[in-house]
Amino acid sequence: MAQRIPMSPMKHIALVAHDNMKSELLEWARYNRETLRQHHLWATGTTGALLERELDLRVRRFLSGPLGGDQQVGAKIATGAMDLLIFFWDPLSPQPHDPDVKALLRIAVVWNIPVACNRATADFILSSPLMHGPYERIVRHLPSPEERLQELIGAASAESS
Ligand code: PGA
Repeated sequence: MAQRIPMSPMKHIALVAHDNMKSELLEWARYNRETLRQHHLWATGTTGALLERELDLRVRRFLSGPLGGDQQVGAKIATGAMDLLIFFWDPLSPQPHDPDVKALLRIAVVWNIPVACNRATADFILSSPLMHGPYERIVRHLPSPEERLQELIGAASAESS
């Protein structure tokens, strides 16, 4: 059965920008500062430091992206602790942590959280009435470790018979 994960009116928002995209994220965040400060903000290390310094916003920081920060964001998403991802990844330059980038985008889709990878999408998300109210994300049934184990045991016994 599908799972319903509640989001409260005050959202937990993760902000991540690759180096070439940091100025764009900063400009967007400056424009939307009043809305952003009504929510819980999280960011990878350097992105967070930039937002705190330039916009005087309270941002909880993970490690820098290439050092594991993207994976920390992914872990928060997988445990239901993150509601939104604003991820300005750089489409024109390879990154040392490209596998982590892919993993983060994947886990955001698995857990059905809204993701903005560019400024226009971020604008649409932030201006949505859903930003200020409760919302239930529907996540399709994801098998528990016990269910997976039962499936594997079932498959192995069918193979051996
Ligand atoms: P940074 O990480 O905020 O520490 O630069 C972002 C990233 O490259 O994923």
